[in-house]
Amino acid sequence: MTNQFLVTSKKDMEDRGWEQLDFLLISGDAYVDHPSFGPAIIGRLLEEQGYKVGIIAQPDWRSTADFKKLGKPRLAVLVTAGNLDSMLNKFTAAKKYRSTDSYSPGGQAGRRPDRATIVYCNRIREIWKQIPLVVGGIEASLRRFAHYDYWSDSIRRSILIDCRADLLIYGMGEKQIKEVAEQLSSGINIAHIRDIRGTCYSADNLDHLWEDYIETPDFEAVSLDKYSFAQAFQTQYEEQDPIRGKTVVQRHGEAYIIQNPPALPLSTEEMDEIYNLPYQRTWHPSYDKDGGVPAIQEVKFSLVSHRGCFGGCSFCAIVSHQGRIIQSRSQQSIINEAILITKMSDFKGYIHDVGGPTANFRMPACSHQEVRGACKGRHCLAPEPCKNLSTDHSDYLQLLRTLRALPGVKKVFIRSGLRYDYLLAAKDSEFLTELCEHHVSGQLKVAPEHIAAKVTRLMGKSGKETYVKFMNAFKRTNEALGKEQYLVPYFMSSHPGSSLKEAVELAEFLRDLGYQPEQVQDFIPTPGSLSTVMYHTGLNPLTGEKVYVAKDPHEKKLQRALMQYRNPKNYDLVLEALVKAHREDLIGFEPKCLIRPRRDVANGKPRFGTAEKVIPSRKNAIKKQASRR
Ligand code: SF4
Repeated sequence: MTNQFLVTSKKDMEDRGWEQLDFLLISGDAYVDHPSFGPAIIGRLLEEQGYKVGIIAQPDWRSTADFKKLGKPRLAVLVTAGNLDSMLNKFTAAKKYRSTDSYSPGGQAGRRPDRATIVYCNRIREIWKQIPLVVGGIEASLRRFAHYDYWSDSIRRSILIDCRADLLIYGMGEKQIKEVAEQLSSGINIAHIRDIRGTCYSADNLDHLWEDYIETPDFEAVSLDKYSFAQAFQTQYEEQDPIRGKTVVQRHGEAYIIQNPPALPLSTEEMDEIYNLPYQRTWHPSYDKDGGVPAIQEVKFSLVSHRGCFGGCSFCAIVSHQGRIIQSRSQQSIINEAILITKMSDFKGYIHDVGGPTANFRMPACSHQEVRGACKGRHCLAPEPCKNLSTDHSDYLQLLRTLRALPGVKKVFIRSGLRYDYLLAAKDSEFLTELCEHHVSGQLKVAPEHIAAKVTRLMGKSGKETYVKFMNAFKRTNEALGKEQYLVPYFMSSHPGSSLKEAVELAEFLRDLGYQPEQVQDFIPTPGSLSTVMYHTGLNPLTGEKVYVAKDPHEKKLQRALMQYRNPKNYDLVLEALVKAHREDLIGFEPKCLIRPRRDVANGKPRFGTAEKVIPSRKNAIKKQASRR
């Protein structure tokens, strides 16, 4: 019997009686046949269209041998770095190597090169110079124009120039790959495939562009001038709309990168078809010896209900990949998948998640979006919800009720992030009540990310007042239900706009909450996000306002330490941060103080300052404090 996975070896091809593939997929992730993994979706979709597809996952990039093992495909090679940008996958915010990689067998790090898309494409070009080469996935998608690269601290060219592919698919890619496959199989030369929405290509002139297009500052300008970079990003960001977005062009030397408008949103039927493909829902058996691929654990018993996000968080690039318009699966399709899950031998009765980028966005933000596109220069939710925003949670509620009533299901959790400002904007508290009653396992993770107004505004998040309102509503609801459940808020340090002053403000909020986060997330300037542009330019590209950015690693350490001010290991850093922020009033013995003064080794009296040095300006304050006591 042939195995039910996509072809990964010559033996698989022989078993199917295939001499040549139509499409060869190269992926930076291990092959997991599940709809949460991009290569599996693209491979299954092409297979369903009747194409012969093979996948080479995590080839050894140091030579061409692995890339050749399934032979030359008839139509094209498709390359992706995997579910994450390869640099983000490999490096921490401090630019150190991560010790594990959950998308690799056994969680082993080191199974992919830096800048995997470029490296894989170079190997392919060494083997087959003229073969049609198409790149896609998050790395290609978010690096499609000249972009800031945190790991090299430089502006890099469009990845399309560096990888020498013929076509770049941006966004989720299903519509695009179907059209690319159709055109290639009908004999059209890839150099002439220039009309597919959701793709970018390079050309040496713009004579063929008949429709309206916008040209952004070119690579040279954005490399030299931060205002030009911010301006280019603003155009790219604002035109990222399938309904009203225009073609966007950026010159790179003699070549032009041309981005066609985004792919149209998938209909519910199209979404259902994609999630209904015959995935095996696990890793390829060749990884059994390594203990499998850890990333599956997060999603194995979870359900994707939709794509897209109208939340507008500036540090997230989902808008540039999935767009602002929500695309949902039908309830029936999700329920069918849930039934499949309940039949899996290791299912213990718990559905881990039902959601998408934001769990409670099941429907488009408003009816205007589908006709006119999402508003340019306006957020749907923050700082205040738009008056046109539809806040109806009834479809999601109905779905959750059906899922938890399925035979074999003990509990359905919601683990995707919830937008609590959207939840609070709903006309009644029905959703919050059922959320607390049925879908929280003692702790609900939420992401206020910060509380200083200056920072939350730049983050595109609602402010402290909204979070406090939600905290109170959550508490009241649980009390009414007789449940003891807690919020676990996530906060981010050193986001653009956050100086030590704002970091201290956050620390004071944590003090008042009586909460110390166990883990602290430093802002990482990932490719393609609005916050990344702020980080690089010190400007908000949407308004032109100047933005403070903490770039110095030591200052970042201070901001991070403030969030865990109670940890004795952070004492010196917190002390230094408070002194630098002129907030010595928070060093002392009063309840509002974050830390106590250090005891002088010689006389046992309290003192301000680091272990090495007493800060002279504080000596009087110590005296005053001592005399008050
Ligand atoms: S009208 Fe309001 S809800 Fe609709 S897209 Fe515009 S900002 Fe968003």
